[in-house]
Amino acid sequence: MTMQGKTAIVTGSNSGIGLGVSRELARAGADVVLNSFTDREEDHALAAEIAAEFGVTARYIAADMSKGDQCRKLIEDAGGCDVLVNNAGIQHVAPIDEFPVDKWDAIIAINMNSAFHTTAAALPHMRKRGWGRVINIASAHGLTASPYKAAYVAAKHGVVGMTKTVALETAEEPITCNAICPGYVLTPLVEAQIPDTMEKYNMGREEVIKKVMLERQPSREFATVEQLGGTVCFLASDAAAQITGTTISVDGGWTAL
Ligand code: NAD
Repeated sequence: MTMQGKTAIVTGSNSGIGLGVSRELARAGADVVLNSFTDREEDHALAAEIAAEFGVTARYIAADMSKGDQCRKLIEDAGGCDVLVNNAGIQHVAPIDEFPVDKWDAIIAINMNSAFHTTAAALPHMRKRGWGRVINIASAHGLTASPYKAAYVAAKHGVVGMTKTVALETAEEPITCNAICPGYVLTPLVEAQIPDTMEKYNMGREEVIKKVMLERQPSREFATVEQLGGTVCFLASDAAAQITGTTISVDGGWTAL
């Protein structure tokens, strides 16, 4: 499976799943564009490390995925792409009647609206190139719900719905659009939820991981960023040319329950 000559843009990729996915795409030979809103020296250094390790072109382009115009500008600044991975995401946990409005708005903007803007901007480039892959990193929460995650669950269900629509609109073209639905993956986003959960359940770290976080993940193992990168590379491959408008769960059996 070689992705030589293809350019991939991965939103929210200076950490966690986005970084892991970028590394696997680069390992497969793709040129990659990393993104976050931070624009620090170490963000640019991450791109340089990937370029050196895998012998591909890797760039870091700063853009805030909570802002529609910046989402669209990211695609234009990159000169378009063959593979678009919509990955940027944040989380906030609160009962709906206490859910802070600014957190609701930010989650909907970053986790869902950004995929609308980047996809709208990327499709004309893919059409010109005569090939394209839109891969949305949704979540098991794009297919099922959990309490206290109203904004996240709403945004991820929205992304799954948008995935199906984009697939239908591109069905007769050599472009596919799919969503990957990870269960728990140990990344900074999940790590940040551990202290609060420990306090809420009055449990230690390991107990929270096995009994609370992985309670719904029958494998009792976190998925890894490399496994998600491998799934992205598969969806970007010719073997997946007829896979469109669907979800692939990487969740240790969570959604089989
Ligand atoms: P993470 O916190 O490690 O990474 C999130 C990324 O998004 C970072 O690179 C961050 O810089 C970027 N980001 C945040 N706000 C941004 C903004 N305004 N503009 C641009 N970039 C921004 O989290 P992660 O766990 O790697 O999550 C990545 C994606 O995977 C998210 O969409 C998340 O919902 C999804 N996901 C994660 C898990 C999990 O268990 N970790 C499970 C299912 C789905």
